[in-house]
Amino acid sequence: MNLVMLGAPGAGKGTHGNLISKKLGIPKISTGDVFRHHIEEGTELGLKAKEYMDKGLLVPDDIVMDIVDWRLNHGDCHKGFIFDGFPRTIAQAEHLDKILAEKGEPLVRAINLEVDDDVIIDRMKNRRVCPKCGATYNILHIEEEICDECGTALIIREDDEEHTVRKRIVEYHKKSQPLIDYYEEQGILFRVKGNEGITHAQEEIFKDLEK
Ligand code: AMP
Repeated sequence: MNLVMLGAPGAGKGTHGNLISKKLGIPKISTGDVFRHHIEEGTELGLKAKEYMDKGLLVPDDIVMDIVDWRLNHGDCHKGFIFDGFPRTIAQAEHLDKILAEKGEPLVRAINLEVDDDVIIDRMKNRRVCPKCGATYNILHIEEEICDECGTALIIREDDEEHTVRKRIVEYHKKSQPLIDYYEEQGILFRVKGNEGITHAQEEIFKDLEK
């Protein structure tokens, strides 16, 4: 079951990706998490990625594709995978198609979470993340800013500051939105409303995957 999650920053790709990953027993692969890990470790790749991330820009395709190639060669992808935040450009999508065609295991679905820009900006103001395990929370829905999963104090992600979020949304419309047509043409796009509750969206996604 090879899946990708599409949607603007803050649309809920990570949350839904985690739930789908648990339910189907396939790894969730977040390219953003890989970059954040490298930044924390102070690697050369991390330094390079940070230059772009801090400005709200996409990391160049060649860097992203190298990471994806490396990650897909891990043994844990034998039952499939769900990508969260990849692909973000047509070139990345074509690269993924090529790898999967070579393996003879095509993409089953591109799940697109639809959320209006003003809802995203509002949501990002209230988003907190766990610096240890990457879990995300909305401060309106929690009592303490502590991670449920691992007890770590939550933080605001640097690129969730409003001016950076606005740039990320512009970048999304310019470079990532064309992916919607790309996957629609392949007949594997599934659209789901990202602001009508997590449970409802999950039900819709699984109803579609069972088809
Ligand atoms: P995310 O955690 O998915 O919101 O990603 C955070 C940031 O990492 C993005 O704003 C980009 O700068 C970078 N990034 C993550 N995935 C990709 C990708 N597939 N292509 C380009 N840049 C990416």
